[in-house]
Amino acid sequence: MIEPNRQGEVWVFAEQEDGTIPDVVLELCGKARALADQLGVKAGAVLAGSDRGSLPAQLIAHGIDNLYVVEDKRLEHFQTSPYTRIVCSLIQKHEPQIVLYGATALGRDLAPRVASEMRAGMTADCTDLQIQDVTDPRTKQVHENLLLQIRPAFGGNIIATIVNYDWWPQMATVREGVMPLQEPDLARSGQVIAEPVELDDSLFPVKLIERHIEPRTVNLKGARVIVAGGGGVGSRDSFKLIHELAGAIGGAVGASRAAVDGGYIGKEHQIGQTGTTVRPALYIAAGISGAVQHRAGMEESAKIIAINTDPEAPIFSVAHYGIVGDMRKVIPLLVKSLKER
Ligand code: FAD
Repeated sequence: MIEPNRQGEVWVFAEQEDGTIPDVVLELCGKARALADQLGVKAGAVLAGSDRGSLPAQLIAHGIDNLYVVEDKRLEHFQTSPYTRIVCSLIQKHEPQIVLYGATALGRDLAPRVASEMRAGMTADCTDLQIQDVTDPRTKQVHENLLLQIRPAFGGNIIATIVNYDWWPQMATVREGVMPLQEPDLARSGQVIAEPVELDDSLFPVKLIERHIEPRTVNLKGARVIVAGGGGVGSRDSFKLIHELAGAIGGAVGASRAAVDGGYIGKEHQIGQTGTTVRPALYIAAGISGAVQHRAGMEESAKIIAINTDPEAPIFSVAHYGIVGDMRKVIPLLVKSLKER
């Protein structure tokens, strides 16, 4: 366990694969920048790999002041032990007060191992982060500028705010797409600091024999328009109507969990708490009740149109436009009118 350093930086673990940084890391750089400004400290990031390429410029343009780089040929692909060693030794050396990770497969692997090694706290799958003074109910002591780690809990029925009074650094993984991706500022400057971290061969017990990358067939995150179908669609056959409307309007196809569980469409299309979080310009929800777990993944959409037979369906509370009606009748009419335009 390490002592709190109130002047410590706000860090992002800049995961990368094949020289590409996922959007969630860049989203976190913007958030780290905002949190660091509020705390009056610098924003930092840790980048590890075999070749930094042009990634430092990208991270700095998204808000990072100090970038700590560890380069080693053996770090070409992620492995848990050496990456844990790198992050822990840099935390010990620089004492950041906050460390953020994307809630990706890699982040979900690395963050808890770092937390365990550092005897620090960690909250998984946050959807928001804020800084606030908090009173410890046990001691009545006021802790200034703690990180509020906000995430859905109990199946999404409540939003929990988690604070960490005793364990430092404060660490969280954050879901992709819940924080806005800020425009890069190419005029920003920052420091790139090469970090010599000793990594002996015993930290690389895994030998990579072959990599197989599944092509990404569904790009819900990048879609400007999404047409999503739910349990109310009723069958895999009727789900063709959702594909038809998406085709006519040039959108991607999304789904609620009921539609996925019903076998109408694959899990990769699921939107919500345990699916993808999206923020398209237009989201059309057909036959979706609007359960809190679904809304968690789509309610930040710029415009929402809901089609539902039940006028009391909760989806109407987040919709900008509502159509009370049978989607099997409404969608063909919409497709017809779109095709006539
Ligand atoms: P239903 O609840 O079956 O609702 C169907 C809706 O369609 C109703 O409102 C009905 O009025 C309407 N309808 C029926 N017929 C028609 C018709 N012909 N035309 C128009 N409307 C019609 N859910 C998700 O979506 N995403 C998640 O990521 C997710 N994660 C979860 C995680 C946990 C831990 C838990 C506990 C649950 C999760 N759920 C998730 C499930 C969630 O609670 C709901 O069960 C689910 O969202 C319901 O899907 P639905 O609204 O499509 O189906």
